Amino acid sequence: MDTVSRQTRSEVMASVKSKRTKLEEFFAEKLKERGLEVFKRNVSELAGKPDFVYEDSKIVIFVDSCFWHGCKQHLRMPASNQDYWIAKIARNRKKDHQVTKKLKEEGWLVIRIWEHSLKNSRALKWWLTRIKRLIALRQLGITLLSSQDSQVLFGGTVEELEQDLANARRASVARDAPL
Ligand SMILES: [Zn+2]
Repeated sequence: MDTVSRQTRSEVMASVKSKRTKLEEFFAEKLKERGLEVFKRNVSELAGKPDFVYEDSKIVIFVDSCFWHGCKQHLRMPASNQDYWIAKIARNRKKDHQVTKKLKEEGWLVIRIWEHSLKNSRALKWWLTRIKRLIALRQLGITLLSSQDSQVLFGGTVEELEQDLANARRASVARDAPL
């Protein structure tokens, strides 16, 4: 497990928080460029307060921070109070699952995007294309509720794509992060 020193911990926490907001703004701009402008954001009436909501298509998007949501690739655990952070992140992950389940039950298509996917131009492009297609499908009355469903149409799960990207990154092929 990676660690950071006590003195940098608060800086890391602060930067994680502010970076996430910047990342959401960046993603909002990219969506707009693709003709997918989102008018409803951080909707507190919905479970989990989704970051982006396409009300007509009944699609919600969460941008999940690699730290707060416990990304296996990038989580850098603070050196001190590790028990606290492990428990905290585990609670967050459990809540994510509950929120996703509740929203699906209400008929929402729930899209969760890792922070690191938005920092990789190939992954970002993949997501923008998928979101565009998912919106188009929903508007045609075709309902997909999970990435498993979208596998049928897109030939590959989100998890598989993420794995491909991780491999590519390791091979230094896809190191053109837009941020
Ligand atoms: Zn990550």
